[in-house]
Amino acid sequence: MCGIFAYTGKKQAGVTLLDGLTSLEYRGYDSAGIFLPERGGIRAVGAVGNLKKKIPTDFEGHSGIAHLRWATHGEPTEDNAHPHRDCTSDVWVVHNGIIENWKELKRDLESRGHVFLSETDTEVMAHLVEQELSDGKDFESAARAALGRIRGTYGMAIQSRAEPDVIVGARMGAPVVLGLGDGENFIASDPSPILKHTRTVLFLEDGEMAVIRPNSYKIFKLGGDTVERAAQEVDWSPEEAQKGGYEHFMLKEIMEGPEVIKNTLRGRLMFEEGMAKLGGLESVKDELAKIERIIIVGCGTAYYAGLVGEYMLEEHAGIPVEVELGSEFRYRKPVLNQKTMLLAISQSGETADTLEAIREGKRKGAITVGIVNTVGSTIARETDAGVYNHAGPEIGVASTKALVSQITALALLTLFLGRQRKMSDSDAEEIISQLSLLPEKVQKILDNKAAIEAMAAKYSDSRDFLYIGRKYNYPIAFEGALKLKEISYIHAEGCGAGEMKHGPLAMIDEKFPTMAIAPSDTVYEKLASNIQEIRARRGPVVAVATEGNDDILSYTKDVIYVPETIEMLQPILSVVPLQLFAYYLAHAKGFNVDRPRNLAKSVTVE
Ligand code: GLU
Repeated sequence: MCGIFAYTGKKQAGVTLLDGLTSLEYRGYDSAGIFLPERGGIRAVGAVGNLKKKIPTDFEGHSGIAHLRWATHGEPTEDNAHPHRDCTSDVWVVHNGIIENWKELKRDLESRGHVFLSETDTEVMAHLVEQELSDGKDFESAARAALGRIRGTYGMAIQSRAEPDVIVGARMGAPVVLGLGDGENFIASDPSPILKHTRTVLFLEDGEMAVIRPNSYKIFKLGGDTVERAAQEVDWSPEEAQKGGYEHFMLKEIMEGPEVIKNTLRGRLMFEEGMAKLGGLESVKDELAKIERIIIVGCGTAYYAGLVGEYMLEEHAGIPVEVELGSEFRYRKPVLNQKTMLLAISQSGETADTLEAIREGKRKGAITVGIVNTVGSTIARETDAGVYNHAGPEIGVASTKALVSQITALALLTLFLGRQRKMSDSDAEEIISQLSLLPEKVQKILDNKAAIEAMAAKYSDSRDFLYIGRKYNYPIAFEGALKLKEISYIHAEGCGAGEMKHGPLAMIDEKFPTMAIAPSDTVYEKLASNIQEIRARRGPVVAVATEGNDDILSYTKDVIYVPETIEMLQPILSVVPLQLFAYYLAHAKGFNVDRPRNLAKSVTVE
């Protein structure tokens, strides 16, 4: 999610920073900007190329900070582009992440006379440092004190005109790496922009700050203690560095699952009130309290997220829900009115069919709401209100982390709409506490990836695959099959397990394997019977089951265990192993997992 890059040394900083931004571009492309102490801030909307046109090549500064934005707070405009500055234009900040308490801080700073120029959360940091400097602190202490006041996630670099060769970096939940060179030092979101200059790097840990100068660096705990940590040599290529050392973006993005859930939930769970705080729905909350029906539209993976949403919203918020493919909805004559909420789910916010569905809904007077990952995208702009995913850019064509985030956002929406209706305090409490436990549960699945890889290798010669599930995991059966089709080109079908007898069972023989999504939920017994029927036809079965379920071993020995959670959240824990399974299987077949043939990342044509 966004890239930061900072340099202090002897090279021409403008050129060095621009060059570095180019290798970070996969992290964000809403806007780009740099600050050079001798020159000031230069920012441009869009990719690095636009910024390049604005930067003089003969410029002789030797330090600076730079940023590529993946917007979370405020649209991708030039005013919202980083670096952000304080009132005096002395202190400049680049930031990756979300400052959770920015509103309180901004109010406080405004009351002290600070004037804000952007809508971002980030800008508070520059003013906080300014405030601390005005209390007589030096730059390093002022930055430390300001960092102590913010809550949330950050990978940050801060620079002051008063001490142009010093840069402060800090990390909390967003990656920061130092590059240690000869008479020059770097701070970046990942090593890719650094490797050209040095291979000696040092990764910061959460709660640490670094102070770099051309010939020295220091690392501290935010509390003040010095940290001694040996630097390491990396032999990654710049491309490997972009992928965090993983072979593909898809795997990296699956592995980001726990972080993505945390980011989607960040600042949105109100434990005391048993409610979800969704700022993007504030403006329509009274209308939402009155809606009588929800229609969810999406395409591909987002459509399956919608199906999970249907189960959640009907069960826990008591609102009738229908889910439609964007491509079908727009050509029908849907019956809508002011009591209908039309919910669009789209990672890119540009999916053509979903967008047209929203336009149609608006014409008919429905309240339109988006669950969108890309801030300021067309769907985000054209809907009446929305919930941003904050999942960061997704590069792999096969969507993985976006789905995890979409289902998490749908759970938040269920909480929000449910609490406006009849959801009890204790139900809300349970959903909230289970949501907050999800990141560690997903991590547990990811830690078991070697076993899933082995399972995928075992089935890599299959020509077909059936995926079955029931209730909340019925959509996940379709999603699992879609993932496999997309990247391994194996024919795969999703099927409601109860439907097997109505046709698909005829295909089963010893060469036709089935992935059975069988967590210990209210439909486990029924699903187990379906597995039995497949086994009776000698069909091989891989099962996704809940930890501690030994019963499943009487049906099949190929079991992928996942932790338990409440039924409505189980799809998140079921889908992650299916994503890994598809990834490893396609990988075993030698396909380019990040760029499957015939497909593009965001489908902006009908
Ligand atoms: N929250 C900040 C913004 O919206 C930083 C986002 C990022 O990580 O790029 O500007």
